[in-house]
Amino acid sequence: MVDIARRAGARMAVKSKSMATEEIDLNEALEREGITPVETDLGEYIIQLAHERPSHIIAPAIHKTKGQVAELFSRELKRPVEADPEELTRIARAELRQKFLQADIGITGANFAVADTGTVVLVTNEGNGRMVTSLPRVHVAVMGAEKVVPSMTDLMVFLAILAKSATGQKLSVYTTLVRGPRRAGELEGPEEFHLVLLDSGRIAQLGGPLREALSCLRCGACLNVCPVYRQIGGHAYGHTYPGPIGILLTAMLEGTGSVKELAHASSLCGACADACPVRIDIPKMLIELRREVGDQKIAPWIERVTFKLLAQVLVRPALYRLAARVGRVLQRPFARGGTISGLPLFLDDWTRTRDLPPVAARTFQERWAAEREAAP
Ligand code: SF4
Repeated sequence: MVDIARRAGARMAVKSKSMATEEIDLNEALEREGITPVETDLGEYIIQLAHERPSHIIAPAIHKTKGQVAELFSRELKRPVEADPEELTRIARAELRQKFLQADIGITGANFAVADTGTVVLVTNEGNGRMVTSLPRVHVAVMGAEKVVPSMTDLMVFLAILAKSATGQKLSVYTTLVRGPRRAGELEGPEEFHLVLLDSGRIAQLGGPLREALSCLRCGACLNVCPVYRQIGGHAYGHTYPGPIGILLTAMLEGTGSVKELAHASSLCGACADACPVRIDIPKMLIELRREVGDQKIAPWIERVTFKLLAQVLVRPALYRLAARVGRVLQRPFARGGTISGLPLFLDDWTRTRDLPPVAARTFQERWAAEREAAP
């Protein structure tokens, strides 16, 4: 990628939204070569100005309010900016217009590539994608190898599914089909076109336990319905791809060890699988990941011992009842106002950022036994 930019003598690169380039830290690599990357998708532009990473697969700046964006624009552009979405969009458009004209290279992601015609497909709701693919001298599209579909007929099916699940549209505003550089006699388009297919562990998963995740269209529907994502937001996942599918993709790209904690960041409620248009069974694969984390002994030993003990308790009713009674005594110094906080030693990890519910004064089993005794 960087070689292509270097050969083109590029000083500035305009980019349309691409999670694949986030995955390979392309902006940082370009900057090291003295090439200025400029994000031109409105959400990505905001994120770049804020020096942050996207918090959602299709809505990178979803965590920011219009007030925060106005504050950011005022600070970066050194002038007062009103917190009005139309005004903010107009400012970004004016700022970016010159960049499109100055850039030597345009970098995009790709939602699909069609094998039998050699077509790269970009699905966007902003016109920036078309500017990036047609104005600079060189266009580079970067995509995961799993995004290749056999034919145009397959593409039509996926386009309809993607738009509906991502934004509830029948079709996205811009569906751009790119078939290479400008041809003889054509007035528009780049002189050079390059397609970069990323493997990064994807192909190895074709026969692996996470292979279903390769069908992901990156529509973001599973993030929107996930109770964990909705509470903690995308940045808390700490990797390029957030949300339930992000845990699986991170495991695929960076290895199981990188998700030893994230593998548990799911209630396994199944909302993600219900929302997924391609019916990826995310909960099933998360359980598989947890098993792998256990088998490979990646989790800290204290956690492994704790869960082994817990498993022993859970399969022995008498021990479970005894544990509830012991727990009630042990929790006394830490239970205040209906919550447990400030646990000591390594247990502090459990209560540092959240409170735990205490063992009930009477468990369900105790109440049930008492009711039955009292019944006539
Ligand atoms: S896993 Fe399914 S719902 Fe989630 S982003 Fe991928 S295709 Fe969309």
